[in-house]
This record gives sequence, structure tokens and C-alpha cells, in this order.
Amino acid sequence: MKLAEIGEFGFIARVRQRAESCADLVLGIGDDCAASRPAPGELLLTSTDLLIEDVHFRRAWSDPRTLGRKSVSVNVSDVAAMGGKPASLYLGLGIPGGVAVEDLDAFADGVLEACAEYGAVLAGGDTCRSPGPWFISVTVQGRVPEGELLTRQGARPGDLLWVSGRLGDSALALRELLAGGRPAPALAARHLDPSARVALGRALAVQGLATAMIDVSDGLLADLGHILDSSVVGARVERDALPLSSLFRDALTAEPALLDLALAGGEDYELLFTSPPQCAAAVAALAADGVPVTQIGRILPQEDGLLLVDALGRPCPLPRRGFDHFS
Ligand code: ADP
Ligand code: MG
Repeated sequence: MKLAEIGEFGFIARVRQRAESCADLVLGIGDDCAASRPAPGELLLTSTDLLIEDVHFRRAWSDPRTLGRKSVSVNVSDVAAMGGKPASLYLGLGIPGGVAVEDLDAFADGVLEACAEYGAVLAGGDTCRSPGPWFISVTVQGRVPEGELLTRQGARPGDLLWVSGRLGDSALALRELLAGGRPAPALAARHLDPSARVALGRALAVQGLATAMIDVSDGLLADLGHILDSSVVGARVERDALPLSSLFRDALTAEPALLDLALAGGEDYELLFTSPPQCAAAVAALAADGVPVTQIGRILPQEDGLLLVDALGRPCPLPRRGFDHFS
């Protein structure tokens, strides 16, 4: 059966049946707006991401359920990066009429499964026909107690620079996919089904350990650049301290230039944050569930700029920074 046969409202009814409600959502899918009750003393966080077929994803690389999961995770990652907890998601879809309803159901299952894993609910959206590619626009709303909000501002010279998880796996998987290869499943999963680091972001916020934070979506150096610009500081990154998976290290042994993928590849969805040196032990203790936190450098005064150094402290050339849709 094709989407065109059940129509917009047929699809919405199927999504609505599957979506659950949660305590602070007064009204979910089914009316003109969702309604929720803001908790006193909390800030509402809102962020939108747009995923366009053949720009952000290829349908041949991912089953629809996994695509649904990723659509949620990349969006929730922005809430994690502010120290928040996701609450509700809104799903805008542009889909060609010829798509099989089973594929859309699987996509919605992935969306709802990921929402449930992050403790969020699907609270609304919009569904339109696309003349060609899939368009997926996800808006997330989350909460953070006032006073726990973490932004890109606030890093100070002397702070240590930390990153969660491992860098470069997603970009390495993408590179193999683009070359027509089949990346190892663990590597492919890092690109196709990333996890937002909500628990780590909350822990840093609750314990007051971070001075600035961002999620690594455009590449380590590009996103670090955003912290440096917003905080008006510089930084020194230790090349040999970058956390790399064993799969990535194997690839690196064969092709040393691949290190650029860890520095500038993007779509890692790890948390990059700064923290005062006296908090180092508390930060290191947050590593959990196979997600390490690694100190990769230090914040410097702004006039020092951004330095990448080798094990002997000698400056290394910086790779081209990150991804820009229009360059
Ligand atoms: P309106 O025309 O008033 O914008 P719609 O008919 O577009 O309302 O949507 C009806 C309900 O279904 C709304 O609650 C809307 O949020 C929800 N909805 C529509 N599309 C989606 C979707 N793709 N995912 C989740 N909810 C959706
Ligand atoms: Mg509408």
C-alpha cells in the first residue's frame, strides 16, 4: 500500500495511535496545537533540524526505522548540549506519495522508539507531499532548571577541554559509504544511528562541572571554534589525546591522513565541553556505559588562537574546518 492511498490523515492517525503521552503534556497529537505545562523554575529549550534526502542521508544506506531514530537523536543532541532533558518532539515530513506505508510506519516506529529512549514524546508535526526527496524536519523542546543552562559562552583560560565518546567513526563510515563500500556494522551504526549524550549533559549541568558546552555535529575543530568565538578565548588541542575507536585506529595505521576525519569530519554527536581544572576528577568519574570522557586540551587566552599540537607540544597544521552547506 502506498502513502497516496491512505493520505495525510490516514498517516497522521497511524502515528497518533502509536504516540504516547506524558505527564507534562496536556494535549498531544490531534488538535491544532500541542499544549504543555511549563514547570516553574525551568527554561524551555527549542531546537529544529532539517534532514533532506541525498543531502543529509541516502535511503539506500539506512532502513526507515534507523532513519527515524537518527532524525530524533541528532535533534535531541542539541538539548543535551545545553544540559537539558528532551520533553517533546514535533515531526515535519515531506514525503512522495509513492512511498510504501510500511516504510513510513517503520520510520514512525524509529522516531517513537528513539523518543521513548530519551524520555520524550512525539507531540505533533505536519505531513505534506513532496515532489521528490524526503524532507524530515524535527523540532525538539526540552527543559533545563534555570541556573543549569550550559551555553557556548563561559569557557575561561586555564579550563580543561573534554570530549565524550570517540571521534571520527561517523565520518569514516560515511566515507566508506560514499565510496560504495560497506563499513563494519559498529562503524556504520555510529553514522546511521548515533546516540545523543543526554545523561552526560545532565550530569555535567546538575553538578555544575562545565563552563561551556556544544555537541560535535560539524566536526571537532569547527564546533570548538564556536566555543572559542562565543567565549572569546583560544585553545590548545593535543592531537595524540583524541579518543579514537580501535576500528578508527586500524584505518589510521593504513592511512594516517584519516586523522582529519576525527578533527573535522562531523556527525559525531559527542559533547565537547570545558571545565575548571579542579573539577577534573569529578568529570573523569562521569564516564559510563562505555562512553568515556577524555581531556583533549586546554583553553588559552584569545590571542593564542587555536593550536593543534603533537605529543612533543609542536604545532601541527590544522585541517580544513567542518562542513558548510553553502561552501
Ligand atoms: P493543521 O491543519 O491544523 O495544521 P494537521 O491536520 O496538519 O493540523 O495535523 C493534525 C494533528 O496531527 C496535529 O496535532 C499535528 O501536530 C499532528 N501531525 C501531523 N503530522 C504529523 C507528523 N508527521 N507527526 C506527528 N504529528 C503530526
Ligand atoms: Mg498542519
